[in-house]
Amino acid sequence: MLMEQRAHRKSNAVSWRGPLVPCVDEYIRDVTTRKEHFIIRQSSATKAEVEGLSERHEVDIENHTCTCGFWQIAGLPCIHVAAFVGSKHHTLWHTYVDELYYSYRYRMAYEGAISTLPGKEQWTLLPDNQFVFPPVTIRPRGRPKKRRIKSFLEGSQK
Ligand SMILES: [Zn+2]
Repeated sequence: MLMEQRAHRKSNAVSWRGPLVPCVDEYIRDVTTRKEHFIIRQSSATKAEVEGLSERHEVDIENHTCTCGFWQIAGLPCIHVAAFVGSKHHTLWHTYVDELYYSYRYRMAYEGAISTLPGKEQWTLLPDNQFVFPPVTIRPRGRPKKRRIKSFLEGSQK
């Protein structure tokens, strides 16, 4: 079941051409073509106040934040970010999306194979007095490195 699911997802991902997984592409298409009206007051090259009919939010492109909180939580640009970025005619939408939604990450997740398991009848039984130790792990200590692709607005700082 698990192996079939993985194989299905793996073969699905082969046909993806864009940098983002298709459902995210669809989301971006949707959020960037919504006909909601926003007033955009730009305070710097990367910051703006985006005002809708009943709300007003601050968008910070450089730090990937919007005061509505959606961008920080979902890793996808919210309607306010879309309105601001859209007004500046930037079309590299994938640079505003968390790396986790990139097709290559999806492929990476499913590229490995699950090793097969012989039937229960073929298992070797160990005598009762033999202790089985846990596997030796080779994971290094500490937090793994962050490898997010930075948007062009972030420059080479940090
Ligand atoms: Zn927002």
